[in-house]
Amino acid sequence: MKRYRPVPYELEILRILNPRMDFSEKEMFDYINAEKGFEGELKFDQLTNKLQGELIVLNDLLLKLGNTYYQIDTTIIRQSVLHFFEVKNYEGDYFLESGELFKMPSKREVKSPFNQLERSESLMRRLLQQNGFNISVKGLVAFVNPEFSLFQAPLDLPVILPSQLKRFMKNLDKQPSRLNEFHRHLAERLISLHQEKCPYTQLPSYEFEQLKKRITCQRCFHFMLPVANGKGFICMKCEYKEGVESAILRQVKEYKLLFPERKITTHDIFVWCGGYVAESTIRKYLKMHYKFNGFGRWAYFE
Ligand SMILES: [Zn+2]
Repeated sequence: MKRYRPVPYELEILRILNPRMDFSEKEMFDYINAEKGFEGELKFDQLTNKLQGELIVLNDLLLKLGNTYYQIDTTIIRQSVLHFFEVKNYEGDYFLESGELFKMPSKREVKSPFNQLERSESLMRRLLQQNGFNISVKGLVAFVNPEFSLFQAPLDLPVILPSQLKRFMKNLDKQPSRLNEFHRHLAERLISLHQEKCPYTQLPSYEFEQLKKRITCQRCFHFMLPVANGKGFICMKCEYKEGVESAILRQVKEYKLLFPERKITTHDIFVWCGGYVAESTIRKYLKMHYKFNGFGRWAYFE
């Protein structure tokens, strides 16, 4: 059993917004961090994908206890233990002092994943207890970037350093594990408790009118231009090519994600695509893929 890792909601939105508006320094910082974090999680997935033993891997769970949300990057269910991992893609030299994490040489304090881990661990224990699952819980912070070093780490710190990652996975695979109905129920329950969106996610504020309207590249998220024969688009940065239909449908998806309250009209999608595709073409594809509602100028798709 497996739960694959989707692009996190926040990152999905930031990728769409980045070329279309001017981020503040803080928003840009958050965006770059979100990209880096996701890249680290994918790197960790490459390792867990190789595990052979009898275990269940659940990627990216957003759980809720009372009004508290907590995100678990990776959960591995084994016979007698539920492991969960806070995956970090930090780069450079760091040190720990009185439980706080600092980056060298500036000694700038960064949010400590260990405090976050402790909090998640206690929430996870309570959630499992409430749901009647009796299994031991072990959380670890996994640093996946080979350029990361941590100084002054106490010996009992719940951490896997980059140089230990492979060995950790090997050891995990070596320990015998037998799964039964209990473990499958546990995994199914966790998946059913997964929340789609955290209402506290902070996103830049944006409005339809204020955003730049163009077709964006699905590979690097930069703007695309129509190719000479009019049969598609080419990315101005990575030169990725895409046909008209799939480019339009992707723009509609982005539009829906950014503006879930707005109706999908041919004209709005025409504007959203920067006027690069004729309204008649847009209408044709919307009719093929979406349900048509209303009449004339009040028509919209869903
Ligand atoms: Zn591109």
